[in-house]
Amino acid sequence: MSRQTTQKILSTVISGCEHMRLSGFTGQVRRLYLNYFRKAYVEKQLQQRKGYCKQCGKCCELAYRCLFLTESRKCLVYHKGRPRQCTTFPIDERDLRDIPGPCGYSF
Ligand code: SF4
Ligand code: SF4
Repeated sequence: MSRQTTQKILSTVISGCEHMRLSGFTGQVRRLYLNYFRKAYVEKQLQQRKGYCKQCGKCCELAYRCLFLTESRKCLVYHKGRPRQCTTFPIDERDLRDIPGPCGYSF
């Protein structure tokens, strides 16, 4: 599948999810899209991001509960190569609105 086709499919899925108001799932798909197709935007945002990750686990159960999140809400792979989706959360203010309560990061 070409990059352009993949990009088009992801954009369609995102707008479809927005329409259905599946915010947790929408956010996951949106971040996936940004991390793979809008890398310059993500890098720019990360430079503006302030604070640090408190490892609260709020962003680890948005659309589904991640298998690496323990009962005590710790990430089993935090220092062992977490996926880019995790290290770049939150990318912007919109991501912060997806989680219940404060994150250690702000913009
Ligand atoms: S919500 Fe913020 S502070 Fe909590 S684990 Fe995710 S990035 Fe870290
Ligand atoms: S890999 Fe770790 S940081 Fe990423 S979603 Fe799972 S528990 Fe959270």
